[in-house]
Amino acid sequence: MFAFTDIRLQGVSYAFGTHTVLNHIDLHIQPGSIVALLGPSGCGKSTLLRLLAGLSEPAEGEIWFGDRLVAKAGWSLPPEARDIGMVFQDYALWPHMSVAQNVAFPLKMRNVPRGECEQRVMQALSMVGLAELAQRKPAGLSGGQQQRVALARAIVAEPGVLLFDEPLSNLDSALRESLCHEMSRLLRQLGTTAVYVTHDRREAEWLADRIVHLASGKVESVRNITSSSGEIA
Ligand code: ADP
Ligand code: MG
Repeated sequence: MFAFTDIRLQGVSYAFGTHTVLNHIDLHIQPGSIVALLGPSGCGKSTLLRLLAGLSEPAEGEIWFGDRLVAKAGWSLPPEARDIGMVFQDYALWPHMSVAQNVAFPLKMRNVPRGECEQRVMQALSMVGLAELAQRKPAGLSGGQQQRVALARAIVAEPGVLLFDEPLSNLDSALRESLCHEMSRLLRQLGTTAVYVTHDRREAEWLADRIVHLASGKVESVRNITSSSGEIA
């Protein structure tokens, strides 16, 4: 089962040298909600996501997943210990592995027995409509299919938190729209907490329950969305 994890950032700052990228960010993400981090290129979205993933350490502040401290100034729980799944813009699939082997990787890291592993891989691939392509190599897939594989890999271990960094930006606009709707449906079905970075306002409005606007290293505004009736606050 997917766990329902809330995420809390308290006074989180980050700098590249003397360039402050995130400046005392306070944010609470409700368990099971889908939050879009929206803002122009260079505003610090990926940096914030990397802190959530454990790929960087904050200079100041604390990050909590539920009642577990995962990062503070100068210390960070590594990604593999965080119960997260992540989808990147460039898919980041391993080219020498088949689709099934790519999706199985997070389960192997967790020492899931082979039989269960195969069953869960096929289940995750079915959820993204790719069960028939399990034995292909990534190079034999379209961009949209590769991103579906990355999505299956992110959800296969049923993590408490899913992190997305502009996963649709490399796709053409028709595919972007259909995959966006598909991901929205899947995320709601799973009920896991998701943080979705994008610079595309429409994508954010389609997908998210809340939109957090980042600007100049700060949270500029937080807006609630309902999928049926549009903006509510
Ligand atoms: P976004 O994802 O919103 O486009 P980023 O988080 O990637 O923004 O970057 C935020 C700021 O940090 C930008 O000004 C960028 O130039 C700077 N930056 C990002 N990565 C590095 C790096 N490795 N070294 C120095 N500066 C960086
Ligand atoms: Mg980015």
